[in-house]
Amino acid sequence: MIRVTVWNEFIHEREQEAIRAVHPQGLHEEIAAFLRTNEDMTVRTATLQDPEYGLSQEVLDRTDVLLWWGHMGHHLVPDEVAQRVRDRVLAGMGFIPLHSAHYSKPLKLLLGTTCSLTWRDNDFERVWCINPAHPIAQGVPPYFELPHEEMYGEWFDVPEPDEVVFVGWFRGGEVFRSGCCWQRGTGRIFYFQPGHEEYASYQNPHVQRILTNAVRWAAPRYCRRTLGCLYRGAGCDVPQEIEPY
Ligand code: ZN
Repeated sequence: MIRVTVWNEFIHEREQEAIRAVHPQGLHEEIAAFLRTNEDMTVRTATLQDPEYGLSQEVLDRTDVLLWWGHMGHHLVPDEVAQRVRDRVLAGMGFIPLHSAHYSKPLKLLLGTTCSLTWRDNDFERVWCINPAHPIAQGVPPYFELPHEEMYGEWFDVPEPDEVVFVGWFRGGEVFRSGCCWQRGTGRIFYFQPGHEEYASYQNPHVQRILTNAVRWAAPRYCRRTLGCLYRGAGCDVPQEIEPY
């Protein structure tokens, strides 16, 4: 079983009626709901309002893949908590920062750049799959469309991704590397751009398929203890029974 934690700052949905109307259970529960339909995943949620910001060492040690939605509250995550997440990724935890989590502290720590981009509200997006043989692209059509999404455009100030799986095109003419993969330490990172809080992108079946694939791709796939783990004692507790993906 892949142990998944969906973390959300959970601010927009509590403070803004219009956003709550789109995501009545919160973005974290919305994402967790479709992931829970997979028999190979155990999924729990955590938020900024939980003890230790929902990101205690115990929670992280029991997480194989962490999905992260954040926007207004990046600065409310203490540096030491962000470093704890970074260390778990280096030790093998998969990390999937979503949409405005391009500015999340853990991603900036892991990538080492500003992670800035250009943006504009409410455009039509066509998401192109440019790497159809990639595990995250399995079952995803050549392109799909999101009638409403926030425009994120280049230049996206990130290190050259190991792999780019999706490119977003917007009616305004902008393009964006919408699905990017990196490895840091022994952990895999997949950044995925759709998911602005005002819109229902996580209800799109192709988006759900991509995030489901991404969880399986990012999950630790072997026990590093048997390989002389560099990160022993830093949260590496990958169970032996995890099968290669
Ligand atoms: Zn947004």
